[in-house]
Amino acid sequence: MNNTTSNTTEPLIEVRDLVKDYATGAETIRILKGINLKVKPGEMLAIMGPSGEGKSTFLFILGLLQPLTGGTYLAMGEDVSHLTRSEQATFRRKFAGFVFQSCNLFEHTTVYENLEFPLIYAGVERNKRDSMIISALERVNLGHRVHHPTNRLSGGEQQRVSIARALVNTPRILFADEPTGQLDGTNSSMVMDHFHAFVSEGEAAMVMVTHDPDVAAKCTRVLQLKDGNLYTV
Ligand code: ADP
Ligand code: MG
Repeated sequence: MNNTTSNTTEPLIEVRDLVKDYATGAETIRILKGINLKVKPGEMLAIMGPSGEGKSTFLFILGLLQPLTGGTYLAMGEDVSHLTRSEQATFRRKFAGFVFQSCNLFEHTTVYENLEFPLIYAGVERNKRDSMIISALERVNLGHRVHHPTNRLSGGEQQRVSIARALVNTPRILFADEPTGQLDGTNSSMVMDHFHAFVSEGEAAMVMVTHDPDVAAKCTRVLQLKDGNLYTV
């Protein structure tokens, strides 16, 4: 990161004493027990830890896909702890991109249509969509696959389409839940290269959940989620 960036950087996201409870029947279980975290532009965070500890829950809260129970969440300087669902959705469209372990692509459609969907949803005009879609696909070296049927792509290509879809709105922060979980070593490292390029080119950051130590080693910071708290590894 250059000096101009680091001198002026406010965190992209900041959580203070973040708590999350799940109610299961009569019982309430506290999954996240007062997490504090700041993520600045240029950072790539890996969150590791055993299954069932709340990694996905934490990621979904940061991505404004799930409400928090307590504490404060500031995203791009704005307190988003108590937004309504529709306010969250509006904020999320400008702010966040998501990549999941399984690509969640629409199978019986083309690559183009998969990327067009979030743009339509965000209200981007038709004549602007083309260039946004093509440039997002070029970022992941899939410029030649624009009109390809999604279900004829390889697993690695499908994951790259899902990355392009997450980037098409040029989010400030990319959230990924085990994005390389179903990829072999070669595709996994290609995907990591795309993430690196995205984070270093823009004033962007990334938070990913991973079980893969090789993937974590390519991040700028590695944290462990255990017993409801985050620890530096
Ligand atoms: P991880 O991603 O670390 O495996 P999760 O965030 O998926 O963990 O889940 C953490 C815990 O919360 C698990 O015990 C899970 O069963 C529970 N949980 C997840 N979602 C819900 C929900 N919607 N309602 C109740 N319990 C949930
Ligand atoms: Mg999970």
